[in-house]
Amino acid sequence: MSDNETDDALRSRFTDWLREYYPEKWRDPLSLRLRGPAEKTWLALLFEHGWRAPGWPREHGGLGYSLQQQLIYHDVLAQHGTARFIDFGGTLLGPTLIRFGTPAQKARHLPPILRGEALWCQGYSEPNAGSDLASLSLQAIPTRDAEGDGFILNGSKIWTTQADSADWIFLLARTAKTERPQDGISFFLADMKTPGITVRPIVNLEGEDEFSQVFFDNVRIPADALVHEVNKGWTVARSLLGVERIVNGNPHLSKKALVVLDTLARATGQQNVPAFRLARAQLACELHNAQALYAQICDAAIRGDAAPEQFSMMKVVSSELFQRVADALIQFGQGHAGQKDAMPYDGSTIDLHQIYMLSRPATIYSGSSEVQRNIIARSVLG
Ligand SMILES: Cc1cc2nc3c(=O)[nH]c(=O)nc-3n(C[C@H](O)[C@H](O)[C@H](O)COP(=O)(O)OP(=O)(O)OC[C@H]3O[C@@H](n4cnc5c(N)ncnc54)[C@H](O)[C@@H]3O)c2cc1C
Repeated sequence: MSDNETDDALRSRFTDWLREYYPEKWRDPLSLRLRGPAEKTWLALLFEHGWRAPGWPREHGGLGYSLQQQLIYHDVLAQHGTARFIDFGGTLLGPTLIRFGTPAQKARHLPPILRGEALWCQGYSEPNAGSDLASLSLQAIPTRDAEGDGFILNGSKIWTTQADSADWIFLLARTAKTERPQDGISFFLADMKTPGITVRPIVNLEGEDEFSQVFFDNVRIPADALVHEVNKGWTVARSLLGVERIVNGNPHLSKKALVVLDTLARATGQQNVPAFRLARAQLACELHNAQALYAQICDAAIRGDAAPEQFSMMKVVSSELFQRVADALIQFGQGHAGQKDAMPYDGSTIDLHQIYMLSRPATIYSGSSEVQRNIIARSVLG
């Protein structure tokens, strides 16, 4: 890529590349999520062809794209119908280590993330700490033994997406009991193969074991597993959550679901039914608004002007719209939505049930809608 490549040129260069290299069997915008070895293969392919880590600075091996270029990058992926993949290493941990990691931590962890060799999972939530994350209790106690300085972890994390296939976990642990609970939290990295870590998959309503509870029984991690300073993990966690809400505030799932709604209407001859046209037009307007809001807030972020409550607003708007489009799929699904397996529709298949189930947790993960509304209300109403 040349430094002065236009946005249109970037769009067509990436589109052409996907047409040539993206495996056809993975073309499924909503139902399919690449996991484990399949996700590693896809990330490695991106890396090999110079398309990995659009937002990372070039000196750390990324593409150094502006926010505008990153939006184009993700839009092209959506337009091509690429499968979902959860790249915690590339989207969340990488930018965090670039900001807070030591040179040794960056040198050790960034290259395997880029090459697709190391998959990461996020260990924040605990059985008694979700929305109120600061009340977390997994303990990290400093230790000094024959192996040197380190920490011993005890406790558990829950709802840990892809813990069963991740090589590493980044996690928050309590290192001190302080008056303000946030002041006694530290941010660590742990190899999932460390003795004492046990992963117990949890099957969701859809029947998928996409998340797990992760148990830590006297897990010894080295001193250099600590990111930033002891008891300063809340600063690292907040920075990472900000990035997470930008990622999850993108209305791309609603956009993909609306494409599915159109396919469904064509296949069942409902395009001209007044009730369908009204619902479809309303959702299209809402998507237009959500995309405009996303662009506006991203623009403010580029200028360094975006306030945290704006990211919360974006997250609420996108996740709730996705649920409304999924509701419309059920409404116009002509009874098929009650069945679990993909229904054949005019040469393609649509799993309405799965899309609906995918939409339900969108208002919970990455901060529930209620909690986001609290953040917005506090900032607006004081
Ligand atoms: C699909 C999925 C994937 C996830 N993946 C991960 C992951 O990889 N790693 C990870 O660490 N976590 C993950 N989570 C956990 C997620 O972050 C939590 O579920 C979320 O933070 C909510 O916490 P909780 O489940 O403990 O619910 P609670 O915090 O107990 O909330 C229960 C209900 O009470 C409401 N509520 C809570 N506090 C308030 C308040 N102050 N005001 C008003 N209402 C309130 C909430 O909105 C919610 O409706 C995942 C969750 C889901 C659904």
